[in-house]
Amino acid sequence: MWKTAAHSFMVPDSNENSLYADNNATSPLAPEVWEEMRAWSGAAFHNASALYGPARNAARAIGHAREQVAALLGLKDSHAVVFTSGATESNNAALFGAARGNPSRRHVLTTSVEHPSVLGPCAELEREGYAVTYLPVDSNGALDPAHLQHALRPDTLLVSIMHANNETGILFPVGDLARVVKEFDARVLVHTDATQSVGKLPIRFGKELDHVDFLSMSAHKFHGPKGSGALFIRESAPWRPFMLGGHQEEGRRGGTYNVPGIVGLGRACELASQYLDTHEQTSRLRDEVQAYIAGHIPGAWVNGANSPRLPNTLSVSFEGIEGEGLVHQLSAARVYISTGSACTSGSTEPSHVLRAVGVPEPFVHGSVRISFSRYTTAEEAGKLCEALAVSVEKLRRLSPKKRGVQGTPDVHPITVRTGSKGDSA
Ligand code: PMP
Repeated sequence: MWKTAAHSFMVPDSNENSLYADNNATSPLAPEVWEEMRAWSGAAFHNASALYGPARNAARAIGHAREQVAALLGLKDSHAVVFTSGATESNNAALFGAARGNPSRRHVLTTSVEHPSVLGPCAELEREGYAVTYLPVDSNGALDPAHLQHALRPDTLLVSIMHANNETGILFPVGDLARVVKEFDARVLVHTDATQSVGKLPIRFGKELDHVDFLSMSAHKFHGPKGSGALFIRESAPWRPFMLGGHQEEGRRGGTYNVPGIVGLGRACELASQYLDTHEQTSRLRDEVQAYIAGHIPGAWVNGANSPRLPNTLSVSFEGIEGEGLVHQLSAARVYISTGSACTSGSTEPSHVLRAVGVPEPFVHGSVRISFSRYTTAEEAGKLCEALAVSVEKLRRLSPKKRGVQGTPDVHPITVRTGSKGDSA
């Protein structure tokens, strides 16, 4: 049901009967996070940089949130955490800040499958005269460490490699790759865009991230608020601030503190560590949907099936249909998935990521991304399977591209099995 808001647009007033499986685009706020944010959204509106009592309370709440972020990342010193408006800003700050902090070095290394918020700054650095190397991935979406080793140069300033890909969910062994970089030259800085993995996987400093100098994260990918994120900046890393203004964040990021957003991020981090054990259940649901597709929908290709992946993500391409058509078809049934990255949807061209992992041509236009969360239930996964089978079959019947796809989906009501019912806390 929809109701008219005070403005001319329509807002949904209920999620009833809809099935949300686009959590890599954004995820619903956890009720506990919302409660925390509400407490800092009404009477407690004060500027956290001011000197009077209520403002000092807000500053303390920010300090607490910084500790919560640090705890999730396994950081001993929360001072390394700088609050930002999200991962786009964090990525921009990491790349431009590293470049400004090391003016004599003019080479950046990254991968061909990064998010646009890394590729955009890379392109801008190229316009400014920097050399940028884009490392390819193989058909499993994997990076060859030898390619990285060969591409490093005496003037390499920064290596930026994402932790988990937003479209395919494929994980890069960032810790191992960072070690390769530091063995080559300890002064080369390492950044990882961990936006899709923080809160979904245990990713911790003091373990695999020891050689990482910058890490980007964003609250809304793990049940925190939009417009709130953080950048980890290693104290010893030469870096210049990107967002100049007031003295907030000790001069590392100007701008009045977004207190509700920051406390929301902190609470989302705390909850993420409490719910770490739900990842197994999420990946079980994902695997069962994948198995259903393999068994019941002919002409389907799972991207990254042989690679380590995020537990919640399934990227699948269907021969003979358009991914966008499938998303619309499912949307009519109130099942919400995406064609890949929300940042590139709207374009009918397959994304740079799917091109880079070499999805075969007959499949690539029919690509969709399904991404679950800790709130996804087995019942929902079952409903998704049925809706997918029905929709793919319908589109193939309608589509002139259907030629060559053998067989029709075997559509039966299905039950997705899990150890327990999905967590709905
Ligand atoms: N990096 C990755 C891998 C992402 O998936 C996203 C969000 N789509 C971003 C960066 C940008 O995050 P934000 O929305 O917080 O700016």
